[in-house]
Order: sequence, then C-alpha cells, then structure tokens
Amino acid sequence: MNRETPIDRYRNIGIMAHIDAGKTTTTERMLFYTGVNQRLGEVQDGTATMDWMEQEQERGITITSAATTCFWSGMDQKGPAHRLNIIDTPGHVDFTVEVERSLRILDGAIFVVCAVGGVQSQSETIWRQADRHRVPRLAFINKMDRVGADFDRAIAQLQSRLGAVPVAMQLPIGAGDKFEGVVDLLSMRAIRWDSSTLGMNYAYSDVPADLRERSEVARERVVEAAADASEELLARYLDGSALSPEEIMRGLRAATLANQVTPVYCGAAFRNIGVQSLLDGVVELLPSPRDRPQVIGLGSKQEGAASRGCDTDPFAALIFKVAVDAEVGVLTFFRVYSGTLFAGESVYNATRRLAGSVGRMVQVHANERREIDVVRAGDIAAALGMDDVSTGDTLCDPGHPILLERIDFPEPVIAIAVEPRTDGDAERMTKALAHLVHEDPSVKIRVDSDSGQTILAGMGELHLEVLVERLRREYSVDVQVGPPQVAYRETIRSAARTIAICAGPEEGPGRKGVLLDIGVSPAARGGGCGIEVAADVDSLTSIGLLKQAVTENLTSGVLGGYPVVDVNVSVTSRPGSAVDAGDVPILAAVVIALREALAAAGAVLLEPMMRVAVDCPERATGSVLGDLRRRRGLVQATEDSAVGTSITAMVPLAEMFGYATSLRSLSKGRATFAMAFDHYEEIPAVSAGVVKETA
Ligand code: GDP
Repeated sequence: MNRETPIDRYRNIGIMAHIDAGKTTTTERMLFYTGVNQRLGEVQDGTATMDWMEQEQERGITITSAATTCFWSGMDQKGPAHRLNIIDTPGHVDFTVEVERSLRILDGAIFVVCAVGGVQSQSETIWRQADRHRVPRLAFINKMDRVGADFDRAIAQLQSRLGAVPVAMQLPIGAGDKFEGVVDLLSMRAIRWDSSTLGMNYAYSDVPADLRERSEVARERVVEAAADASEELLARYLDGSALSPEEIMRGLRAATLANQVTPVYCGAAFRNIGVQSLLDGVVELLPSPRDRPQVIGLGSKQEGAASRGCDTDPFAALIFKVAVDAEVGVLTFFRVYSGTLFAGESVYNATRRLAGSVGRMVQVHANERREIDVVRAGDIAAALGMDDVSTGDTLCDPGHPILLERIDFPEPVIAIAVEPRTDGDAERMTKALAHLVHEDPSVKIRVDSDSGQTILAGMGELHLEVLVERLRREYSVDVQVGPPQVAYRETIRSAARTIAICAGPEEGPGRKGVLLDIGVSPAARGGGCGIEVAADVDSLTSIGLLKQAVTENLTSGVLGGYPVVDVNVSVTSRPGSAVDAGDVPILAAVVIALREALAAAGAVLLEPMMRVAVDCPERATGSVLGDLRRRRGLVQATEDSAVGTSITAMVPLAEMFGYATSLRSLSKGRATFAMAFDHYEEIPAVSAGVVKETA
C-alpha cells in the first residue's frame, strides 16, 4: 500500500498567536475550507454550514487537540492535494511547555497577529521560542475588519518588536468596516470574498486605482526578497529581467525556509476573508518534512540519522503528547520522522529501553477521529492504550534503535500544597494526579516530609490554577489549596575543602581513622551538579553508595533545604586511611563534611526570575513601572506600542503573585501581561533572610 500524498506535499504546521488574536477562528475556518469537498451539498444551505461550524466550536477542544489532518489543492483547485497536519499550539505563554513540544515536532508555523492590537507581549515570547527552534513562519494579520486595524503598523512591529524581516504578500483593500479584500501582489489582482457563501466564493478583479502605486512598490519588495535568495535569481534581477511568478515563489520559499524573511498575509478570519490565500501561502512557502534539517540520533551506539522522509528507512518517531481521554483512555501522540509502521507492529521505546507494540492508531481528519492502520514518515497520529510512555520518548524499529533528542522540560518554579477534603477525595486525588503528571511532564508532585502534605509544582500561577480546576471538574476531587510557594535553589559562591574523619572501631593512640578530603566548587550556571570520586576511595567504602549519599544530600541544601545546583563535589582519600571503619559511619562522616563544605563555600539562595512583558495604556505607564520596581523588577525596555506602551522587565517570581489583579486595578483593566520563567538568580541578602525564616 503506497502513501496517498508524497512527503513533499506534507505541511506539518502550527498556528501561534497572542491570546485573542484569532487563532481559533483562523484554525476553524481553515478546517472549514479544507473540509469543503465533503460538504459541498450542505454549503448551499447557509444554516447547515453554520450549525456545523457551531458544533465545531463546541467540540473545538477535541477537534484541534494535538493535530488535525486536512487537504488543500490551492484556492483555485489547480494544484495537487497537499496534506496539512495542523498541530495545536496553546495561546497562553504560561503553557511554555505545550508551546515547546509543538515547536519540536512542527515544520512551519503561521503567526496570527491582531491588526488592532498589533504584536503584543505574549507574541514576543512565542516568537522567540519559534526562533530558537528555527521554525519558518508566515504572518497573518487578522481582524482587518475591526475599527483601528492598521496593516502597516503591524508590519512595522513585526520588524521592530520581533526582529523579523516581513515581506507583504498582499495589501488590504480598505480597513475597519471598509475592509473589502486583498490585493495579491504576485498576480497583481484584487480578491474579494462573498460573505453570503461564508467566503466560499470569491472574485478576482483589477487592483483598485488608489492602490495601484502602493501595490507596485510593495510588489518590488517581494521581487527583491525573492531575488536575494539565490545568486541566479539575483543576477537576472540585476540584469533587469522580469522574474516569473514561479521564480519569485521559488526564491521566496528558499528565503522563508532559511528564516531570512517572514511573508505576510492579511484578512479577517471571522468575516471569512483571506483564509484561502493564507492556505495557499502555507502550501507554497512553508517547508515539507524534507525541507527541515535532518533529525539526528543521540548516543554512540545509535549511529546515523533518522533519515528524513524515507518510508523504507527504519521506523523512528517522537512522542510529543500524552492525553488521557475519558472515552478512549490514554492517547499517545507521535510524529513519525522516518519509516513505516503498521498497527499491531512491535516498537522499541529507546528512551525507556522497553519493548512494546502499537495496537490501534487514530488520526483526526478535519472533523472526525479515524482509525488508521499505517503511519509513514511525516505523519502525526495517536496510539491507543500504550502504557509506560511519556512525552519526549522515542519509538523506533526494535532492530534499529535510535534515540531522538528529548523535549526539554524546565523544572517547576512554583508549588502549592493540595489537601483532599475527604477520604474519597484523597483516593480520587492520587489517581487524578497520576493522570495529570502523565499528561504534562512539567508538573511535579511530592509529599512534604515534614507536613505530610501533597505538593503540586508547576510553571506558573495560571498553570497551577488550571491543574486544580481540572482536579475539581474532570476528576471531582475537592481540594483545599495552600498559598503559592517559590521553588528556590541553593548554590555556592566559592570553593571550599573539608575533611571527613571517621575513627576506626578500636580508636586509640597510633590508630588512624578514615580520612577523606571533600571539595566543593561552583560549576557553570545551569550545568547541574558533578560528583568525582577518586578510584582509591574504593578500598575504604563503596563508591556507588558514596555517590548516592552525596546526590541525596544535594537535594536539600544547608540554607533552607532547597535543591543544591551547579556544584562540583570531589572526594579523595588521604594517605594512611584505615580500612576497617565500615560503610555506614564513613558515609555519615562524608555527609557531615559535605554540609560543612557547602556552608564554608558561601552557600547562597537562587530565585526564579521571570521575564514579564506588559502592554498598557500610556496613562498607566508610570504606575505600572513604579509597581514593577517595587516588586524588585529590573525594567529592560519600554516602547511605544499599538495600545500605548509595552514594557519588558525581569522580576523575581516571589514578587509576582497576584500580579494580574494589581495590574487590572492599575490600568482599569486595560493592560495585559505575559510572564515566562527566564533564569535563576542569586537572591539579594535582605530578601534571602526572609526566605530562610519562612523556609
Ligand atoms: P484566540 O484566542 O487567538 O484563539 O482567538 P479567537 O479565535 O477565539 O478570537 C478571539 C475573538 O476575536 C473572538 O470573539 C472572535 O470572534 C474574534 N475574531 C477572530 N477573528 C476575527 C476577525 O477577523 N474579525 C473580528 N472582528 N473578530 C475576530
């Protein structure tokens, strides 16, 4: 059985946006237009279609969950069918992890910007994440029908706030309630959509006279950007020859794939304007799996690369999401990088070193979940009923093990205590928490050894709020929630040495005990802890047990019992040590000496610093800035923005609790903000005292 769509015609894309920019509406319209072939009959009847759309909206979460497949042959139906796999990317940056995992497995993205609000704080965070993954992008300037819509300003902000090189592929005809359609700069035609057919019908016409000159200038910019992409095109362009539309698209495609430019489309998804031409842009300008850099296997044994896009290569796939569905149980979503897998075949989980098999597999096609019996390179699908898997695991051919790079999950920075109200709640909570942790690797759970309370840790206040809400709603667990606590860390400022002394059992004159040198020194920030034990320590005690004791002790530092990070520990034996002390007292002596060394090395507390971006009306700028400074914030930039001022600051998480409420009152509800963990930083002495007291 051959594949229906050649891999060159796959587009695995995500749709990213600031919350409220129109991501959901744009996605829904895309599914609507791509589902058109099956629904042509109903489309004549406006109400039937609207009903269907409403249903979609209600079921939006299920339908767009993880990935949805649809097909597009170009708005004029002239091209070959391309298979679009639309990968869900959450709108809110508190779910950094969700964004991160979708960025890992998608090949290209559409960045939706609101024509009124412009590029806002959250967009910056998401854009930077996409930059890090070098994901080629198109921009869609949406809501051109709203009062205050400004295409040029949005383009300018793509450049100034995001450092993009935007290339307008279209110009809007009118704006606000006069928004009619777009000028397609490549064909130099106007396109207007017919609202009575929900934008299914549209008409081409000449460029309106008042836009002709602007369109000529904007087209020249498109041609220049295309010519810049290759020497051959550039030479022809400089020679004065006209490049054909195909050549222009070829050049632009190369420039987009190399992340040199961001082609920009515009429209009003809600009014059914511009979505089909955006889909054309996806097909023409965004990468197929083959256009992306090769995916390399890690480790010395797992040689070579998971070759791109060959169905005949050994199977390799990455699990990017695990969801627990009330109806069907555990759904394991994976992206196939190479090879072919039939339902029921064996797979090897290279991350966990477990053999297993994939039984039933499903894909979501436009509006329905379909059972499938085979997946191939480039595909995205979900396996049903797989146990012992988690996000980031590699599934591969048992005969050709390969380990793909894991998805990075940051350690949680904030925690709350959750206490079940009744015994029944306690029972349900244990099960529910296990589900939540399975689904979301950025959630951690532990039981506090002093209080016996269950501590739920995550990436931000909103993240924890959503988790608690899910406990209540989905799992009917009634819980009492404690105040949020910051996840501090400890490290050291300088190096220090101590001696672990453990007297032998028959202590007396002339008998030496065990003497070990314990050294601690600062390691690079973010580099973790290293433990080095000299080989001759082996004659005194088990090196394995010694390393274990040191590792365990580093989980609870000397200042407030927080995890110790970025410290190198070395253990060497002193000459003349006796051998008959026994493991237990030696390890106890090592632990005491280690703690003394950490204290002597100037242990310090580290606190999570958040990158906070605020968009506020100009009137509120002064008070917002003052408030951020009172929160020990370091303001990094203030800039004029579409809504007034945009502020970027680095603020300790400890000072950001309840910020949403206070920002609301400072700005009369008109400011928005985004906050994401940035790094850990040494806590100033004054605040450190407070933390230690409360710890
Ligand atoms: P998301 O948060 O990015 O997914 O945004 P939604 O798609 O939910 O849209 C947010 C709000 O903006 C909704 O009320 C939409 O109806 C509205 N909206 C989306 N697109 C447009 C548009 O093109 N024009 C107008 N006027 N409103 C829109």
